[in-house]
Amino acid sequence: MTFRASIITLYPDMFPGPLGLSLAGRAMVKEIWSYDTHQIRDFASGKHANVDDTPSGGGAGMVLRADVLASAIDHASPKEDARPRLLMSPRGKPLTQQYVHELANGKGVTIVCGRFEGVDERVIEARNLIEVSVGDFVLSGGEVAALALLDAIVRLLPGVMGNQVSGEYESFENNLLEHPHFTRPQNFEGIEIPEILTSGNHGAIDQWRLQKSLELTKKRRPDLLARYNAKKDC
Ligand code: SAH
Repeated sequence: MTFRASIITLYPDMFPGPLGLSLAGRAMVKEIWSYDTHQIRDFASGKHANVDDTPSGGGAGMVLRADVLASAIDHASPKEDARPRLLMSPRGKPLTQQYVHELANGKGVTIVCGRFEGVDERVIEARNLIEVSVGDFVLSGGEVAALALLDAIVRLLPGVMGNQVSGEYESFENNLLEHPHFTRPQNFEGIEIPEILTSGNHGAIDQWRLQKSLELTKKRRPDLLARYNAKKDC
């Protein structure tokens, strides 16, 4: 079954962009996933065919119109569509690897990409949009956020990653950051690969890696470490 992404955007040419190459590109050729884009402008009516208008109450910028967006959403994702409808938004719930897994286990997603100041609030509720943020910073539009989200989803789809095991120990999979990696040459500018990694003792290597993961997470992401400890204890 192909995972299908429907993207609602003012810039359909931004897709598939980087997702047409490498891992995601090959997965698309293998029909593990597919996408379709819907140009918001095609759903604007009237003489000027405006997709946006000035914010009610005043202020800077423009707001995407609820009626135009609703028509685009209804076209891309009719009522009976079981796929979640997401709105990329800095106000949304922060994207986590756990949510990426949840989405990857489903049939697909519909993604609305905002632009300008954002979208009319009424369409969010009227079409059950789930607001998702890719981080505490502001992009100029939802497209790059959508590409990031889709990239994270696609690599988890069955048959995409050559070595499935490689995903299991990665950063965030167990609320820990990944341990450091090394490869040849043995000596790089006078610095050797840690001896234990070339010892062939896999038990000791696993121990070392876990230790490094814990140290790194404690130093850089104490919030994650707290979650790791909470989960471990229950
Ligand atoms: N005025 C808004 C920002 C609008 S940015 C605010 O202050 O919240 C324009 C569009 O870019 C948004 O509608 C959203 O679709 C997208 N966007 C910007 N930052 C994002 C982020 N961190 N995560 C997801 N989408 C983002």
